[in-house]
Amino acid sequence: MASMEAELIANIQGEVRFDYGSKALYATDASNYRQVPLGVVLPKTEEDIINTVAICRKYHSPLLCRGGGTSLTGSCCNVAVVMDMTKYYNRVLKIDKEKKTVTVQPGIVLDEMRKATKREANLTFGPDPATHSHCAIGGMLGNDSCGIHSVMAQFYGYGARTADNTQSLTILTYDCIKMKVGPTSDEEFKKIIKEGGRKAEIYQQLKDLTDKHADKIREKFPSIPRRVSGYNLPSLLPEQGFNVASAIVGSEGTCVVILEAEMKLMPEPPARSLLVLGYSDIYAAGHGCPGIMKHQPIGLEGFDDLLIQYMKNKGLNVDDIPLLPKGGGWLLVEFDGKDKTESDKKCKTLMEELKKGDNPPNMSLFDDPEQEEKLWEIRESGLGATAFVPDLPDMWTGWEDSAVPPDRVGDYLKDLRDLFSKYGYKPSLYGHFGQGCIHCRVAFDMVTEPGIEKYKKFTIEASHLVVRYGGSLSGEHGDGQSRGSLLEIMYGEEIMKAFHEFKTIWDPQWLMNPGKVIDSYGQLADLRLGPGYNPPAPKTHFHYMDDDDKGTFARATLRCVGVGNCRQHEGGTMCPSYMVTREEKDSTRGRAHLLFEMLNGNVIKDGWNDEYVKESLDLCLACKGCKGDCPVNVDIATLKSEFLSHYYEKNRRPASAFAFGWIYWWSRLASIIPGIVNFVTHAPILRNILKSSVGVTQKRSIPSFAQQTFRNWFGNQQKRNTDKPKVILWVDTWNNFFKPETLVAALEVLEVAGFQVIISQRVICCGRPLYDFGMLDKAKEMLLQILDTLRDEIRAGTPVVGLEPSCVSVFRDEMCDLIKGNEDAKRLKKQTFTLAEFLEKKAPDFKIPQLKRNAIVQGHCHHKAIMKMKSEENLLKKLGLDYQVLDSGCCGMAGYFGYLKGDKYEVSVKAGERVLLPAVRGADKKTLVISDGYSCREQIEQMTDREGMHIAQVLQMALHENGKSENSAEAFPERKYVDNMKLHSTKLTAKRTLAIVSVLAVVTFGCLLFNRKKK
Ligand SMILES: Cc1cc2nc3c(=O)[nH]c(=O)nc-3n(C[C@H](O)[C@H](O)[C@H](O)COP(=O)(O)OP(=O)(O)OC[C@H]3O[C@@H](n4cnc5c(N)ncnc54)[C@H](O)[C@@H]3O)c2cc1C
Ligand code: SF4
Repeated sequence: MASMEAELIANIQGEVRFDYGSKALYATDASNYRQVPLGVVLPKTEEDIINTVAICRKYHSPLLCRGGGTSLTGSCCNVAVVMDMTKYYNRVLKIDKEKKTVTVQPGIVLDEMRKATKREANLTFGPDPATHSHCAIGGMLGNDSCGIHSVMAQFYGYGARTADNTQSLTILTYDCIKMKVGPTSDEEFKKIIKEGGRKAEIYQQLKDLTDKHADKIREKFPSIPRRVSGYNLPSLLPEQGFNVASAIVGSEGTCVVILEAEMKLMPEPPARSLLVLGYSDIYAAGHGCPGIMKHQPIGLEGFDDLLIQYMKNKGLNVDDIPLLPKGGGWLLVEFDGKDKTESDKKCKTLMEELKKGDNPPNMSLFDDPEQEEKLWEIRESGLGATAFVPDLPDMWTGWEDSAVPPDRVGDYLKDLRDLFSKYGYKPSLYGHFGQGCIHCRVAFDMVTEPGIEKYKKFTIEASHLVVRYGGSLSGEHGDGQSRGSLLEIMYGEEIMKAFHEFKTIWDPQWLMNPGKVIDSYGQLADLRLGPGYNPPAPKTHFHYMDDDDKGTFARATLRCVGVGNCRQHEGGTMCPSYMVTREEKDSTRGRAHLLFEMLNGNVIKDGWNDEYVKESLDLCLACKGCKGDCPVNVDIATLKSEFLSHYYEKNRRPASAFAFGWIYWWSRLASIIPGIVNFVTHAPILRNILKSSVGVTQKRSIPSFAQQTFRNWFGNQQKRNTDKPKVILWVDTWNNFFKPETLVAALEVLEVAGFQVIISQRVICCGRPLYDFGMLDKAKEMLLQILDTLRDEIRAGTPVVGLEPSCVSVFRDEMCDLIKGNEDAKRLKKQTFTLAEFLEKKAPDFKIPQLKRNAIVQGHCHHKAIMKMKSEENLLKKLGLDYQVLDSGCCGMAGYFGYLKGDKYEVSVKAGERVLLPAVRGADKKTLVISDGYSCREQIEQMTDREGMHIAQVLQMALHENGKSENSAEAFPERKYVDNMKLHSTKLTAKRTLAIVSVLAVVTFGCLLFNRKKK
């Protein structure tokens, strides 16, 4: 192995990774299977791929190509050299407007390809898997993928499947023969044969195979839009033009490596309309499909009431569910048109027809694109809704995409449901009903022998059922390992022989993704869990009680089902580090898989001390984007602090951990002599020494302490509104010591809104910075101190308003999980609000002042993930602002993260430069930049000429300007509110000054010494 690795390193420009960490990272996909690869190669060029294949051949090594790794059948994990094409081999090579084709390298993500074709030719690619934002074209070709708009591709393009939409492929065989394949005319065939060589040999053998089995192929392959199981032998029939490219599509990397793909494009619909139909149940919805398909929609999807129930149980899309018309089973029907009038008209024609029938469904035609998006979101949340439902057993893939003729969907759904009931399973059913493809995740017991046997028995019976319907085991995900051994039920002995011959023609040594599709390793082999699954249960700080009381660290690491949404390149918050580095190990999925492997202990053997796991978590910004955006809410930020708390039991923390983790205590100290501290942290040389002693990059400036803390200032104020309801203003470390103006603004707003504002008697802190360094004992101690300090008010039900989203999220998220079963913690969680939430819920009569200005809004990641931005947006609307919430994800600063030198600073800047910082720089100078997060405001302040305003300051501005528009012409409107709040400075005594200077000197010296020792 070492020599193969060395030879690969010597011969390719890309990356070669045979370390244990990379092997652990690529050991699974989105399936129930797990196989540890031999090593991983990230090729940069075609030559790299050719050299990799040649070297694998020399060492007789199995080879597996990988795209986004979102396969659900085990087709994308193997004991092989894995070639991950996505990092480098991902370019658009050519867009041919005339021919309506695009030629790409296989590592390109579908949405990236569609973005390019839309931009350059207003053309799109029909089949769009739900994973479109991160699946690769190579993977779609491997699986013969389909999607919601496969119906559009069927009616207005070239056919439902990726195979139907492939013009030609450039491929490489395991014996390193490169060739371009596609449909082959008789003349071309003759020419190839005449030229001789390996290509001629392959073509002749394919021809012989087709001739030999032609009748059986015609008989056994069902003629349905979504026949995806098995190799595409019908494409080789003469009536299908001996299409070798199409025959290769769906071979799941078991035959050849795809080097380049020429894909067929179709026009992008100029307008779309969405009609939602509510039927009495899912079967009635299924029966409605054939009639609707006669109207040739561009999408026809269905789902049942169980899916809605699961969503409600999980609190998913709950605000959008009422948009659905009444019913127990729903269809989403999408029509296109040259304009909205035409697409609406198509909907109305269908509605008229349905009204005339017996038992017409309830119908809602949607006009508002925002509402349409929410309804699609309900359908697309299928996986999120059906995995890890509270109080139900875990549900897995395994029988998730069977397909039948579309006109038999209603009956099939009934029979499938009956079969599930016979086995005691009760999955929700949803999917691409217009093309007869039914999705579900099932509560298969994957950890006991009897449970696994039952799963197998079920799939055998289900295979017979789907075959009786003239359907296919798979309608879009392929066969891989989960269905390979069931294929014979569908195809019979002769076709299985033909598949065997097909594979042998391409890969005589059987080393391309062996054990998948054909001669499978077995449905029950290589299971990720399996009967031996009994993970260790280490003692942890958090209790991981998200859904129910079953929470353990092991269960939390299992939550990631491999969907890969964290690998998308833009949109949403998750995952900022992956968006910047495009490394699996920097994605939510990669980190969750590594933690799973760490507990497993088979590849990662160092447990909590493991350096690879530590490295992978190192670039996690702890933004909680994953908790909010991931369909199964994987929370890497929490897992990271747990890991670090154990890692640092045996390893020494860096100086930065004490500098930032203990910021609350440093700030208290510094607030005695802020002027001197600011001098030291900003004076040339001194500041440089200080920064390098605590690992801060010289490219950042250290924020200045306020001349007076909010607490001190508040202490000098007269009590007001003493007869009004009380509210506790949470005096957080950041705003208190650095930006007290924010708290002053909130105080003013809350008092105008009719409240008596109080603050805690003691100086307390939620401890958020401690989480970043795994200082969880201390964090817990601080939470208990808070509960102790505020006990009476908490029990009296006094609400708490927090301005800093990361502090509010401690109370709303971490606190109850860290101190399990504490009733005061539960109360505090319920009565803590952001300012916008508080005004909405507790001050409905407060007349929100008007502010006629434009604004851009940067939502803090914790705000988006935990509290959500709805109340904030409602408030912005009520203010009358013309605003835009940026789809900018994480600002990149993320507390301490953006200050640290090296790759953290680089990632921080790149994350900020993705959307936020260009948007701020590009905004008109009169536009408000609204941003509640202290870190986000720091990032904006340090990287642009603008300063962000907290919503409290925006409300304050509105109160001061109420309705007047003359000020809206000023540039930099924030300066009056952010900069010019003159707070009186505290008096410095000589004694205090001397004491603090000495402390600072000792600390700096200590840090320098500490770092030197570490080196
Ligand atoms: C939540 C969820 C929803 C899904 N929804 C859909 C859906 O709507 N429709 C659908 O069709 N699928 C769906 N899938 C399955 C999967 O996402 C798709 O099939 C997707 O197209 C696979 O792309 P990938 O890049 O992740 O492929 P991978 O998993 O990386 O690879 C898939 C196969 O292609 C092979 N392959 C990859 N690159 C090459 C190459 N260059 N040469 C040869 N072989 C190659 C691999 O070896 C593997 O066998 C879903 C999966 C999940 C988890
Ligand atoms: S917390 Fe943020 S950076 Fe960390 S894995 Fe989750 S999404 Fe990525």
